[in-house]
Amino acid sequence: MSAFINEIEIAQILERNQNPDPAKVSAVLNKAKEMKGLDLEDVAVLSKITDPMQLFELFEEANHIKEKIYGKRLVIFAPLYISNLCANECSYCAFRAKNKSILRRSLNQDEIKRETEILVSQGHKRILMVAGESYPKQGFQYIIDSIASIYEAKVGNGEIRRVNVNIAPLDLPDFKLLKEAKIGTFQLFQETYNRQIYSEVHTGGKKKDYDYRVTALHRAMEAGIDDVGIGVLFGLADFHFELLALMQHIQELEKVFGVGPHTISVPRIEPATGSDLSAHPPHAVSDLDFRKIIAILRLAVPYTGIIMSTRETAHMRRDTFALGVSQISAGSRTNPGGYSDSLHDDSGQFCLGDHRPLDEVIRDVAEMDYIPSFCTGCYRLGRTGQDFMDRAKPGDIKNHCNPNAVSTFMEYLMDYASYETRLIGENLIEDVISSMHGLARERAITLLEKVKNGNHDMYC
Ligand code: SAM
Ligand code: SF4
Repeated sequence: MSAFINEIEIAQILERNQNPDPAKVSAVLNKAKEMKGLDLEDVAVLSKITDPMQLFELFEEANHIKEKIYGKRLVIFAPLYISNLCANECSYCAFRAKNKSILRRSLNQDEIKRETEILVSQGHKRILMVAGESYPKQGFQYIIDSIASIYEAKVGNGEIRRVNVNIAPLDLPDFKLLKEAKIGTFQLFQETYNRQIYSEVHTGGKKKDYDYRVTALHRAMEAGIDDVGIGVLFGLADFHFELLALMQHIQELEKVFGVGPHTISVPRIEPATGSDLSAHPPHAVSDLDFRKIIAILRLAVPYTGIIMSTRETAHMRRDTFALGVSQISAGSRTNPGGYSDSLHDDSGQFCLGDHRPLDEVIRDVAEMDYIPSFCTGCYRLGRTGQDFMDRAKPGDIKNHCNPNAVSTFMEYLMDYASYETRLIGENLIEDVISSMHGLARERAITLLEKVKNGNHDMYC
C-alpha cells in the first residue's frame, strides 16, 4: 500500500478549513509571495475561497508569481497519438477495451514518421507521444521504436527535439529503456487519488491496480528519468480532495528524490465516444473552480510547469495563461493518424475544445504579448530534475529561458509562420528585447542574430 496518499489526513485538514476566516486567507496569500510553495493546510484554505474579492487576490497573486518566474513565456507542444489499442476499462475514456464504437488503429513506424513530418512542417519541436495500454506484436519495443521514429523524422531544417511520453506505468527495466530512448518527461496522471472512486471507474485491465499506478513515478525516477509529469483527471472526485492528494504525491517525490515533478497537468473530463460517465462527470469542476485550481497550484508549487491541453476552449486557455499555465498544446488531434487523415473519424480519445491550427494559436498568443517558446535547451544540456530546480529557484534559469524563447520563436516565424503572424511576432520580439536586461539581453541578441543569419537550433 502506498501510505503517502493519506485520505484520513486530507479529510481532517479539509474539515478544519471548511470556512477559513479572511485573516487566514490573507496570511496564506502573503506566504505565497515568498515563492517557496505552500503546505497542505494552506492549499485547503485557498481551495475553500468563495468570496469574489479573495478570489481576485488569489488570481492576482498567481499572475504575479507566473510573471516573476516564467515571464511571458509559453512553451508549445503537440500530442502524437500512436495507438488507441487498450486492454483497460477506464469508464471515462473512448479507448477502453470494450468500447466497440471507435475504430482501432496502431500506427506503424512509417505512419509515425509521416505524422511527425506533418507536425514538423507546421513548426513543432516538441511532441507528447500518447498510447493506450496494449501494444502491437512487438510489445514494449513498439514504444521504443516509435520514439526513435519521431526523432528520425526530418523536414527541411526542422525536426522534433524533445519527445515526452504519456503511456501506461512500467516496471523498472522498461523505464530504464525509456530513459535510454532519450525521452524528455514521463507523464502519468493518477486520474483520481480517491481509492474508492478509482476502483469504481477502473473496472478492468492492469490499471485497476491503484498502488502500481501511484508508485510509477517513483520507478521512473529510480530509473533515472529526472523529469516526471503528474496530473489529476478533474471531474472524478471532489477537487478539494484531489488538490491535497496531489500535494501529498508531490511532497513524497520531493522527500524521496529531492525534487518534485517537472510538470502538472490539469485535464478536465471531456465527452468521449461510448462513455456515459464522460458526459456527466460525477464531480464536474466549474469554470470558476478550474481557474481556482490552476491559481492555487501556481502558488503551491511555483517552479513546476503547468500544462494546458486543447481539451479546453480557446477562451478558457487564454484565461489560464495569466493564472500560471506555462505549457500549451496546439493544433492537436487525439486519434492515431489524425494529422495525416483529412477525414476526421470519431476514434479520438475525447472531444477537443480548441480546434485552431498552430499558426492561429501562435498569433493569438503573441497578440496577448506572450512569447511562444519552442525551446528544448534544458533537456538537451542536461538541465533536468534537481539541476533544473537548483537553477530555477534563484532565478538563474531566466538567463537561459528568455533568450531561448526569443530565438526559437524567431526560428518559427522565419520558417513556418504566415505573413500576418510573422509581423505580429517580430514586433513582439522587438518589444521583449527592449525590456530585457543584462546577461539575458546579451544572450538573446546574440542568438537572434544567429537565427536571422540562417542558423537553426540556437540555444544557451
Ligand atoms: N493509456 C495511458 C494512461 O491511461 O495513462 C496513457 C494515455 S491516456 C490516452 C492519457 C490521459 O488521457 C489519461 O491519463 C486520462 O487522464 C486522459 N483522458 C482519458 N479520457 C479522457 C476524457 N474523456 N477527457 C479528458 N481526458 C481524458
Ligand atoms: Fe486505456 Fe489510458 Fe484510455 Fe484508460 S485512459 S482506456 S488506460 S487509453
